[in-house]
Amino acid sequence: MKLRVNGVCFSYESVMALDDVSFEVNRGEVLGIIGPNGSGKTTLLRCINRALDPERGTILIDAKDILKLDRKEIAKEIGVVPQNSTIHFPFTVLDIVLMGRTPHLGRLNGESTKDLRIARNAMKITNTLHLAERSIDEISGGEKQRIIIARALTQEPRILLLDEPTLHLDINHQLEILELVNDLANKKGIIVVLVSHDLNLAGRYCNRLVLLNKGSIFSMGRPEEVLTRKNISDVYNIEVEISYNKSIKTNTFIPIAVSKNRSSK
Ligand code: ADP
Repeated sequence: MKLRVNGVCFSYESVMALDDVSFEVNRGEVLGIIGPNGSGKTTLLRCINRALDPERGTILIDAKDILKLDRKEIAKEIGVVPQNSTIHFPFTVLDIVLMGRTPHLGRLNGESTKDLRIARNAMKITNTLHLAERSIDEISGGEKQRIIIARALTQEPRILLLDEPTLHLDINHQLEILELVNDLANKKGIIVVLVSHDLNLAGRYCNRLVLLNKGSIFSMGRPEEVLTRKNISDVYNIEVEISYNKSIKTNTFIPIAVSKNRSSK
């Protein structure tokens, strides 16, 4: 299975947010979308899940053109974990997770025991089963993020899109969410596309990265190919110190200063 994004362009009235963006993601891969604020990361995720329609280009899941699918068909293929999931009613956690079955239900059908089994399984994977009867407004940020991932998994998608899944979480919950996402890709073969502003986490947990700058792909490849001092300086306008950490077997990045040669721009 493969997700192919081909020559995608999108503008908000006068702002060109995506300009000819193309990449592929394979089954079981975690692809990170990184780039400074306003570089087009969220717009790209929203085009992939058809919340926005690209002006040009195609998005294919194998041979299936997602621009030709209806909402229900898309929700069976793509699960979304948005940046801010605000839920205003005091639903139980189980109710929220079961909402993920909606695209699979017939118009007059309620959830069956099969739907319940799928929801409970997603809660087991995300370590949220013990919260099933709790009200969604009585739980912590880390738990809520895991519940939103459980709801997305209950859709049984082949692709999972996450927009800044670790935002507002403390360090241990950040690692927990990214370990979980990695497991979903490795063990279940799900395609994961995640947006992150954290270079250390993206470099550690993503198999490949797409670095966006002003709506275009500036660099794409393995983390060590993309996260070079030059690329980071060119795109983020900062000098970083890069060092290899033996215990996590990956490079780590410490911002040192705003780049002198570009600070006047
Ligand atoms: P990122 O997620 O990388 O911060 P976005 O995809 O949110 O970037 O935004 C890309 C560009 O599109 C930015 O220039 C931003 O100001 C603009 N933009 C985003 N959303 C809107 C909108 N609803 N209306 C107009 N411009 C927008």
